[in-house]
Amino acid sequence: MICMRCGGCCTYLDVAIIDPAAIQADGRSDPSKPLIHKPAGKICPYLAFSGEVANCSIHHLPCYEQTPCQQFEQVGREDDFCILGSYLRAASQKRSDAVP
Ligand code: SF4
Ligand code: SF4
Repeated sequence: MICMRCGGCCTYLDVAIIDPAAIQADGRSDPSKPLIHKPAGKICPYLAFSGEVANCSIHHLPCYEQTPCQQFEQVGREDDFCILGSYLRAASQKRSDAVP
């Protein structure tokens, strides 16, 4: 799956992420600290944007390896573009339109 860097999954999904307090100076995480829950609708603390391009600020660190984010995949071919982002944005828009 090719990520379009929209930041949708980092915002609209429930995700287990590395606890910021667990990241050590060498970029590894303290193995005694568990992953923490980032709830759906809350922007991940590691997400930043350059214009409209989403960046994960821990993507390059060793602590990112083997995380649920790193292992995230979709059904489909490896070279298909992500279809989740547009769905998540539309679903979120529908929810906010429904709020009186
Ligand atoms: S850790 Fe990175 S990839 Fe995972 S939700 Fe946060 S910003 Fe997105
Ligand atoms: S929803 Fe898809 S395109 Fe958007 S950041 Fe997540 S994986 Fe990438």
